[in-house]
Amino acid sequence: MGKTVSVAAINNGTVIDHIPSGQALKIIHLLHLSEQRFKVTLGLHLSSSSMGRKDILKIEDRFLTDKEAQDIAVFAPNATINIIKNYKVSSKIPAQLPEMVKKILICPNLRCITKQENIDTLFTVEEWKQKIHLRCYFCEKIFERDEMKESI
Ligand SMILES: [Zn+2]
Repeated sequence: MGKTVSVAAINNGTVIDHIPSGQALKIIHLLHLSEQRFKVTLGLHLSSSSMGRKDILKIEDRFLTDKEAQDIAVFAPNATINIIKNYKVSSKIPAQLPEMVKKILICPNLRCITKQENIDTLFTVEEWKQKIHLRCYFCEKIFERDEMKESI
């Protein structure tokens, strides 16, 4: 009891913890980790005292930018992003929702101009009732994040 399964510690890199269960794969796509050569350890559906189930991502020798941390917050608003140096947490980047997200999500509105023309999607981000909502800059419709697909 009380023992949580953990993935191996890393020497240098980034650990993203407290990702909602199942969202880590989206973050892998978001950060283009499958096309890059960094070593990635993925923990899916691990036990968490605060969340029930959670995902963890450990990326060796890769340090996230503030912009990447903000994009991650769209999928994991309560994530803890730790920068690791010499096996120690050297800094924490708060997962803060960005005001806008560009490109990473598709507008579900079939009549939206972003469906007809090859332009990047753009949404303003709002959080209410613990859910993330995105308002399309082009068609002005509002969607819950969970009903949207990623374009990545
Ligand atoms: Zn739209």
